[in-house]
Amino acid sequence: MPVALVWFRNDLRLDDNPALRMALDEGYTPLPVYIHAPEEEGGWMPGAASDAWRHRSLRALDADLRACGSALHVRRGPTGAALRALLRDSGARAVFWNRKYEPATRPRDAALKKQLREQGLRVESANGGLLFEPWDLATGQGTPYRVFTPFWRTARARWNPPAPWKAPDRLPSCAIADDMPLASLGLAPSIPWDRGFWDDWQPGEAGAREALEVFVDGALRGYREDRDRPDRVGTSRLSPHLHFGEIAPWRIAAALEQTRTAANAAEVEAFLRELGWREFAWHLLHHFPHTADRNLNPRFDGFAWAAPGAGVLEAWQRGRTGVPIVDAGMRELWATGYMHNRVRMIAASFLTKHLRLHWSHGARWFWDTLVDADLANNTLGWQWTAGTGADAAPYFRVFNPVTQARRFDPRGEYIARWVPELRGLPPALRFAPWESPAMAARLAPDYPANSLVDLAAGREAALAAYRASAD
Ligand code: FAD
Repeated sequence: MPVALVWFRNDLRLDDNPALRMALDEGYTPLPVYIHAPEEEGGWMPGAASDAWRHRSLRALDADLRACGSALHVRRGPTGAALRALLRDSGARAVFWNRKYEPATRPRDAALKKQLREQGLRVESANGGLLFEPWDLATGQGTPYRVFTPFWRTARARWNPPAPWKAPDRLPSCAIADDMPLASLGLAPSIPWDRGFWDDWQPGEAGAREALEVFVDGALRGYREDRDRPDRVGTSRLSPHLHFGEIAPWRIAAALEQTRTAANAAEVEAFLRELGWREFAWHLLHHFPHTADRNLNPRFDGFAWAAPGAGVLEAWQRGRTGVPIVDAGMRELWATGYMHNRVRMIAASFLTKHLRLHWSHGARWFWDTLVDADLANNTLGWQWTAGTGADAAPYFRVFNPVTQARRFDPRGEYIARWVPELRGLPPALRFAPWESPAMAARLAPDYPANSLVDLAAGREAALAAYRASAD
């Protein structure tokens, strides 16, 4: 059988993998390859937490391939040179891959496709990660959507995800010389700072499948309410699995549809809508590729962001701001590579409004520390919270982190889990320890006595800067 390269990128799975399926359907022996070329990702080279996840995910993919009689072949970039060497060494006549949509790698992939086709090779790419291609949906005027609700209405009206499919149990094998060990890529941390991550996560296709099952059998039941509660396990925690393509969104959608009943229909719809935000994020990044670095709303281009004062950004990063819910979130992130969505919004709002730091400071930190770091979702999340993006919360709507914590972590359990210095305080005081300074000094002596910025004053300063920028 002729050989085809199946070039794995952010589609680290065998089931529901269109590139693998094309190769098999066309009668090729697939040669699964991974090419490590982070410098080709432009200004957004994967961060440390992403690398740690990718290492484990690639290891899992290789094990899954070996169980089918195949294996993953690893190379270092530059990608063009690595592909050409692989084609030469294997004698392959075709290359298949699933599309990536980041602004830096799209032109690279388009150029590669053209060059390889000019050499007479069969080259095809497919949509392996989204329910809609980022260019599929448009407003009645043919322009990109900037508001989520109409985007979602159109998406639901045109809803037609593919049915999930299984990869064959056996794959034809194909060996080539000079294989590199995965470990030589240096993705796994040499100092195991990620040790705390893996109690919570199982990278790879099997881990993704398990996370889906656990969610469908459990938290889905109360999703609408619990998704906002960081003190509960109320969400799916599928985000890193989706980012690395360990599971297809259409498999998730199909699993939800299978469980749909009259009683849980609203929960199913609420969850599908969140998958819709992911689709919206890629739609926006495709049409507005500058937004990973610059405001979508140019009104903010002249905004008076504050210069980070000494230690201010570090206090936020390390969870030492003195605002308990913010610190809890930042410490959850550091310890596990994940932060609850509600707390992401609170921590991002505190940075961009109360501290008035440019959202890119936060986006960069999340990029390095999140296991689900994703250029589209992260850009959307930061620009939305900062008020600079599409369909964003208006800048003047400033989250009060104390009110938010009282509402969404009512017993202060999430705070106590991540900020152990506050465990000795009565729950009602964990949201704002400065309200009872004597008790805080006695029962939580190791926690900052005050917030990095007075919350009322920080809010007023942010609003004043906003008004000034409108003049
Ligand atoms: P669930 O509630 O179970 O949602 C299911 C899936 O829907 C998620 O896995 C995710 O793929 C998608 N989704 C949910 N909420 C959103 C959203 N608001 N925007 C886009 N997609 C969403 N998500 C990332 O995947 N990567 C990021 O880098 C990222 N950065 C963020 C930064 C900020 C400042 C904010 C406010 C949000 C960010 N999000 C990001 C979105 C959201 O916080 C996470 O997707 C969510 O917390 C993941 O947990 P989950 O899988 O349990 O979510």
